[in-house]
Amino acid sequence: MQVFKFGGASVKDAPSVRNVLSILKSHANTMPTLMVISAMGKTTNLLEDLALAFFKKDRNLRDLTFEKFLHYHHSIRAELGINETESWNDFLDEFRWELECEPSNTFEYHYDQIVSKGEMASSLIVSEFLKSSGFSHALLDARDVIITDDNYREGNVDMQKSEKKALEYCLPVLNKEKFVLTQGFIGSTVENTTTTLGREGSDYSAALFAHFLNAEKMVVWKDVPGVLNADPRYFKNPVLLTELSYYDAIEMTYYGATVIHPKTIRPLQNKKIPLWVKSFLHPEKEGTKICRDYTEKNKKLPIFIYKPNQILISIQPKDFSFISEGNLSVFFSIAQKYKIKIHLMQNSALNFSICTDFFPDRVFAFLESLKSHFKVTYNEGLGLLTVRSKNLAYDYSEILKGRSILLIQKTRNTSQYVISENE
Ligand code: ADP
Ligand code: ASP
Ligand code: MG
Repeated sequence: MQVFKFGGASVKDAPSVRNVLSILKSHANTMPTLMVISAMGKTTNLLEDLALAFFKKDRNLRDLTFEKFLHYHHSIRAELGINETESWNDFLDEFRWELECEPSNTFEYHYDQIVSKGEMASSLIVSEFLKSSGFSHALLDARDVIITDDNYREGNVDMQKSEKKALEYCLPVLNKEKFVLTQGFIGSTVENTTTTLGREGSDYSAALFAHFLNAEKMVVWKDVPGVLNADPRYFKNPVLLTELSYYDAIEMTYYGATVIHPKTIRPLQNKKIPLWVKSFLHPEKEGTKICRDYTEKNKKLPIFIYKPNQILISIQPKDFSFISEGNLSVFFSIAQKYKIKIHLMQNSALNFSICTDFFPDRVFAFLESLKSHFKVTYNEGLGLLTVRSKNLAYDYSEILKGRSILLIQKTRNTSQYVISENE
């Protein structure tokens, strides 16, 4: 069997959904296929706003945002010619009912109950469209398979329990129907409470299904020709990497290449399942194949990764002592408490600096907490440029032109620059 994953961009409007069907007709006919789908377009961002409005009890904003959700999905349904259905109405009734209740738990809990609706809506609509087009399939609720703990917004998957469920629920349906549609990004606790796996987590969901079901291959369908040596949003003329090792793919995603979620590769590598990154705009083209532990292919190409929206935070001991293990352990425990992900760190005798994503709510609470132990300074409006190259003499001064560099770190194959975002 094979696993396909279609992300938000591939189902952002009615023509895109039709395009998915045409890819399925040409590429899902050779073997049983399980397809993982994300929320449509930018729905997850919209639902994040809805979760916040709900939690803050801002009824106007809540209703306005819910209307946007309805309007967007209804216009796609209408354009696809899908009539009102009982399942869709039931889904909306339940959603409305949930939104009418008062918040009764943590924000993280309510976030997962609301934001998961994006994947539920998208899978229902695509399933109804496939049905109306005569494409035989089964719709499976991913929450019956992907079992997590109750770490809301970033559920940790229980591999053993989930594997058991996958074999129990997916295999018989796959054998019978040959095509199964399910949601990415969402899971459930053993008590049947919905959880999510972290933003952009659908790639990871697909890899989990591939791992549990011993897939022959997995394909993620993207709006780019495959994995490129740089993100086309930030770099001119990037080059397609035709083949990548699991190792290089893990490194790239770790440093911030957002084309695949960082957690995706491990479950595949573990069972030597090849991952294809292909374009949903040109499905006939090869794309990138990620396989094996090592490959010489494309080794000479430098790889550029850019993470925007960074903040550089530095601490100094208040009592004129040096940076020590004791200070650092206090620092890291505070970082862990505020879920700060450290992308780069550097220390000197008196200073310890880290670069992290600038999520204002989280970062400002973190800074406040640090201030009771250390002298704290920070710079916002930064980006983190990572260059991976065997050839350290490679000239990339063009990319850095006009930017001020706040910090540089180099190892044998990797150079990192914390730079100003726009000059
Ligand atoms: P999905 O629709 O599956 O969620 P994403 O939008 O998350 O897909 O991933 C595709 C995007 O990843 C591309 O549009 C591109 O801007 C970005 N990207 C970042 N780094 C790379 C890279 N090295 N190669 C290709 N695309 C990249
Ligand atoms: N819809 C979720 C998100 O946008 C998961 C995903 O698309 O991978 O983060
Ligand atoms: Mg994505």
